[in-house]
Amino acid sequence: MKKDIIIALDGHSACGKSTLAKALAKALKYVYIDSGAMYRAVTYYAMENGLIEEGKAFDAQRIIDNLSDINISFNYNTTTGKSDTYLNGKNVEEIIRTIEVSRNVSEVSKIKEVRQKLVEFQQQLGKNKGIVMDGRDIGTAVFPTAELKLWITADKEIRVARRYKELLEKGYKVSLEEVRENVERRDFEDSHRKESPLVKADDAIVLDNSYLSKQETLKKALDLAYGAMGK
Ligand code: C5P
Repeated sequence: MKKDIIIALDGHSACGKSTLAKALAKALKYVYIDSGAMYRAVTYYAMENGLIEEGKAFDAQRIIDNLSDINISFNYNTTTGKSDTYLNGKNVEEIIRTIEVSRNVSEVSKIKEVRQKLVEFQQQLGKNKGIVMDGRDIGTAVFPTAELKLWITADKEIRVARRYKELLEKGYKVSLEEVRENVERRDFEDSHRKESPLVKADDAIVLDNSYLSKQETLKKALDLAYGAMGK
């Protein structure tokens, strides 16, 4: 009898975590939660409400003071067959993916109070198991007892090229250099922050997808998931 489990996926920026997490959730009929979307939504809120201002020093306290006004939820989109991120009732699924949000998100995700609020929400979403969640601290801080932890990785230039292609396909005007700079900076900041830095959990299984197709990566992850379910 297979049991519902928690699958935690962590790794550096643009390593294919969410692509794999979505495919895994679909194959297993599990819920998929993109924890990065939550940090992006808080960042977008801060930018839209003048809490982060271009050219001004970053003021974490202003964001902390406004946290109770930020409500994030996920709603199923019948057209795409995926869940969209909502911020205070507005669909922000696309707008939180811009390079401008990417530039500010690592600074916002360093804030302890932001992390506390979002981690609590993430844990709540996983309380019935049957969930795949991707992020930076899922296997270490959010679900340290997850039945399956995957550390997703890929060669940096491959990650940069994939993210660049993805943004171009969505119609955003960015250069390869801008994308590389952002990926490198976020990797550094996410790995060196004080609160729940990006680090591989000791019991996470490494899955390097640099030279694997999406199907090959999914097959490996599914085999591991079935193993963890005790099938
Ligand atoms: O996964 P994604 O690239 O959308 O995440 C955006 C940012 O959100 C990361 O660069 C990181 O700063 C933050 N994040 C985090 N913890 C998570 C997920 C994302 O700090 N669990």
